[in-house]
Amino acid sequence: MIFQSSSNKGFLQKVLLLLAYFFMPQKRQKNRVYLDYAATTPLAKEVEKKMIPFGRIFYGNPRSLHALGQEAKKAVTKARQEVARLLEAPQEAIIFNSGGTEGNNQAVLGIARAWKKNEKTRPGIITTALEHASIIFPAEAMKKEGAELSVLPVNEEGDISIGDLRKALTPSTAVVAVIFVQNEIGAILPAQKIRKEIDKYKKSLGRKKNEGPYLHIDATQAARVLSLKPLYKIADSFILDGSKIYGPKGTGAWVRRPNLSVEPVLYGGGQESGLRSGTENVSGIVGFAAALTLASHEAKHGYKKLAGLKNKFLSELKKAKVDFVINGSLTKSVPSILNISVVGVSAETLLLALSRQGVYISTTSACASPFNAASRIILALGKSEELARSSARVSFGRETTLNDISYASKIFAETVFQLKKQRI
Ligand code: PLP
Repeated sequence: MIFQSSSNKGFLQKVLLLLAYFFMPQKRQKNRVYLDYAATTPLAKEVEKKMIPFGRIFYGNPRSLHALGQEAKKAVTKARQEVARLLEAPQEAIIFNSGGTEGNNQAVLGIARAWKKNEKTRPGIITTALEHASIIFPAEAMKKEGAELSVLPVNEEGDISIGDLRKALTPSTAVVAVIFVQNEIGAILPAQKIRKEIDKYKKSLGRKKNEGPYLHIDATQAARVLSLKPLYKIADSFILDGSKIYGPKGTGAWVRRPNLSVEPVLYGGGQESGLRSGTENVSGIVGFAAALTLASHEAKHGYKKLAGLKNKFLSELKKAKVDFVINGSLTKSVPSILNISVVGVSAETLLLALSRQGVYISTTSACASPFNAASRIILALGKSEELARSSARVSFGRETTLNDISYASKIFAETVFQLKKQRI
């Protein structure tokens, strides 16, 4: 086995490679292929165009009573109408915020704290081993406030067992918080089945439709690949993120049934129905709404194209005889995300080497962990530490072309062979 991450020699080689990467002059890349759309998407031109007037022309505060303020208020109302129409939800359900992290915090903390206040019992939180940190950490914070936390395991395909959910539900379960499309492996979780099981359980307790346990869905990665229309019917609460759908960074929405009892996370001027105080990010909200329109279009018309890109990338790697394993399931995942472990190569070393050649992918551990850490998601699938350390995410978007894939897969294969030769 060539893999050497645990030996000092391997570690030293990687540190040297990192240093070389940072100190060597960066050549301007002729070919740049961005394959990291799950991390963030570029701002679409048509979205940017709609946002511009709200920077220097209609810059009023929507709370101001003068005409400039009222122009801004009108823009926020129009954006809310557009989002509500796209989601088939009432306008009052939509709380504009700063994106996925805030939305998950609002939902998990907000629902669990309201439950504690109303029911005077310890709230229960059920979640899965595949969640983003912005669900895991608020859930753990609630545990410190007395909540009971239950994390459902997943199988090799990244699927939960409905039987496990059934066993985890208790009369004090306040919220079941699940990711819809997993951000590292693209697995699609069975939202509809989860809803049905919760409803069955509620019925067994004689609870009404608007009583808990409530279902919160993190739809951050789903918005540009799956139809969002059923979500308002399935979930009591769900979130979206502008930075993953060609919108501006730091924008998003938390959508919850207006009669859902929730405690705010931010207190202040009482904007957004008192649930998200702070002067509205008007240009961001306008951009988010425009981006959601684009995303719905891509979900409807771009699925096949994304699937073609993913298949081509895989078949090119196979043709080049790269030794890799697929993490998660190809049939139960979205076409925008591919996760593979290149046997014997550290994913972060590979990422840096590819970056020098203008091919941008991501490792699964990039934001939260130290260099060369194993992905907790790949470990949750039951894979080895080695595979979890060599897991690379390649994600596709509306600007990715087949030519990009040919180029990127060629560079990918060459780089893997080079690194293997250097035993990194
Ligand atoms: N949820 C999921 C599934 C994500 O992929 C991300 C970000 O990658 C987030 C939440 C958090 O989004 P943000 O960092 O934009 O707040």
